[in-house]
Amino acid sequence: MRFQNLARYPDIGTNCYLLETGGTRIVLDAGTHPKHTGKDTLPLFEKLEPGSLDAILLSHPHLDHIGGLPVLMKQHPEAAVAMTEATRENGGALLHNSVNVMKAQREELDEPAYPLYSHRAVDEAERTWLTREVGETFSLGDRERVSCRFFRAGHVLGAVGIRLEHDNRTFFYTGDVHFEEQTLVRAASFPVEKFDAMAIETTRGDHQRDPEYSRAAEQRRLGEAINRTLDRGGAVLIPVFAFGKTQELLLMLRELIDADVIPPVPVHIGGLSTRMTQIADRFSHDPGRNHRGFKLLEEFPGLRVLARGHREPEFHPGAIYALSSGMMSEHTVSHRFARRILPSEAHSILFVGYADKDSLAGRILAAGKGGRVALSDNSPHESEIRCDVERFDFSGHAPREQIVDYTVSCDPKTVLLVHGDEPARAWFKAELERRLPKARVIIPAPGESVDL
Ligand SMILES: [Zn+2]
Ligand SMILES: [Zn+2]
Repeated sequence: MRFQNLARYPDIGTNCYLLETGGTRIVLDAGTHPKHTGKDTLPLFEKLEPGSLDAILLSHPHLDHIGGLPVLMKQHPEAAVAMTEATRENGGALLHNSVNVMKAQREELDEPAYPLYSHRAVDEAERTWLTREVGETFSLGDRERVSCRFFRAGHVLGAVGIRLEHDNRTFFYTGDVHFEEQTLVRAASFPVEKFDAMAIETTRGDHQRDPEYSRAAEQRRLGEAINRTLDRGGAVLIPVFAFGKTQELLLMLRELIDADVIPPVPVHIGGLSTRMTQIADRFSHDPGRNHRGFKLLEEFPGLRVLARGHREPEFHPGAIYALSSGMMSEHTVSHRFARRILPSEAHSILFVGYADKDSLAGRILAAGKGGRVALSDNSPHESEIRCDVERFDFSGHAPREQIVDYTVSCDPKTVLLVHGDEPARAWFKAELERRLPKARVIIPAPGESVDL
């Protein structure tokens, strides 16, 4: 077996890995990088000879795992592409949205390579995607000699870890994983067995989670922050990613309303969030879901869906605005809405997801209440942050200790550390070398091949 790291950078983003075994060549994920532009956002696809792939497997539909898929498929029309049904539905919608974003950026960033693919290319790609269920065993390769199986990874609905086996040799790729229950997404259910090699995500390797942390307490703290805002006649802005976090948040709010922690006030969503919530509702009976059967768009009390074409919801104090994007990127509803929220001490911005330090969300968090931020990348004008600003941890990634514990329980011969910044991978390497002294623990450089 041979592993090659096709990620272009030694960090999170452009996830793409080649596994070669018994003459079968399988690519795991094909992501884009959120902080680069044009062709630099793609993995090292140029290292793959055209027509040389048997299969492409997708762990889940976040763009750092799927954003480059249409480009890879165009270069390798021969490859079978497989994923779960939830990844297929959500991935299609997210790739179409990504075409729209790239079209807008073509002018704005003067990036002639954009869009990297068209709506038509996404439609055509989608038609050929195969769906495989969690727990189903299927074969890959010409002589079908590689056996493959998906395991529920937590993280987001439909996310999987991928187990490959050939000639009694086994490989396991965690993808992005969470071992704890979220509100909507059930916890990972990963196999514990002695793998020859594992590729594991290291996202949260750079810090230890507060040992006192509990998601339930964090949810309650969110409810209390909402209540304080409503009590003083304010509105709450919660910038959220359209896929995953929006639906997690809506279910958390529903639980808080049911438990009488917060009153049943109107909750507004809009834009891409509506589309992604429609898809989540179609999967309301998915075995990977909690609150099985509950349809958010039909059954959530007081949900207000922003009509198509409206660029901004009407603003009313006493309401919650759960608007995308999570990082408040320019030209998104949450970015535009910031102008309404920032100037008043009555309002709050509550952050529930990841925020890059260079995004508006990251800048507001860094400046805090009383600080100043430039709302636009191109304007020196700064606005004062007069509203409350709070952050909550509802991460969909496992804390580092849990990933190490899981890896140790599998006692692999080789561990490949992927999907993490340098300090994060360094922590994992030191910790795993200490706890698995016989294992090879490798941080594969971009492009590097490792014989397993
Ligand atoms: Zn992810
Ligand atoms: Zn990821």
